[in-house]
Amino acid sequence: MPTSEPNIDLHTHSYFSDGILSPADLVQRAVGQGVSVLALTDHDTTAGIAQAQAAAQALELELIAGVEISTSWSGHTIHVLGLRIDVTSSALQQGIAQIALQREERAMEMGRKLEKAGIPAAFENAKQLAGIGLVTRTHFARYILSLQKAKTMQQVFERYLGQGKAGFVNAQWASIADAVAWIRQAGGQAVIAHPARYKMTATKLRSLIKAFKEAGGEGLEVAYGNYSAADMQKIANLAVEFALLASRGSDFHGIEHQYAEVGRAPPLPGQVTPIWKDWPAH
Ligand code: AMP
Ligand code: MN
Ligand code: MN
Ligand code: MN
Repeated sequence: MPTSEPNIDLHTHSYFSDGILSPADLVQRAVGQGVSVLALTDHDTTAGIAQAQAAAQALELELIAGVEISTSWSGHTIHVLGLRIDVTSSALQQGIAQIALQREERAMEMGRKLEKAGIPAAFENAKQLAGIGLVTRTHFARYILSLQKAKTMQQVFERYLGQGKAGFVNAQWASIADAVAWIRQAGGQAVIAHPARYKMTATKLRSLIKAFKEAGGEGLEVAYGNYSAADMQKIANLAVEFALLASRGSDFHGIEHQYAEVGRAPPLPGQVTPIWKDWPAH
């Protein structure tokens, strides 16, 4: 009988950003789904890592300290995952603290824009939904859904929050070079999150990957919760071509809307090198 592959999920969110679950509940759910190695990668914060680690200690699960950093590159927002980071790194913490401030300012501006588009008190309500977590567009989307101004998350982004829509504010996040440098200074490995999701040409995607690699980036998220098989093959080929390692992540946010379940993503294709290949035994 073939032994089954361990379920390794290196991209998930808790309520410290736009996930629904607490870090402890996320870890619990991951164990229930058969995940043995889990990275918590909240947007621009590591505030949930200690709680996730504490919860994992009593369970058969290895918790990887991670983060998903918002960056801007050539007019696109690009998400860079940091894996196996030292969360006490001051370079990393100073970098993401700056992004957290920008998030707050952007959210206020989004509130003003949405007010004009017929969505009242959006900032206050998004902040309330974010609770102790960083405020994100997901929180605005949940509020707009609660007003029944749209039927699905997708529709909210198409109508209000997507690029160029009434509530969209074009934020200037960190540079890719800075984000990768912070991750490396924290002893971690940098991975481009969901490379197939950026709306760019194949040529532009290649120049993004080239710039990322030159900055010291090490991996691409090859297997992802919401990719098609064709997307995965495309990114796997790029990983091989650029000699980058391959990561796997569900991008779990909670049990709502279209988000993938924790642990759910295809296995990595055979031709790529898993980013965990040289990690200590798990
Ligand atoms: P922000 O970082 O504040 O701009 O928010 C980005 C987050 O919004 C992403 O991490 C997703 O969780 C969510 N998001 C973006 N686009 C969509 C979409 N079309 N449908 C559902 N969620 C989305
Ligand atoms: Mn998110
Ligand atoms: Mn992302
Ligand atoms: Mn994510």
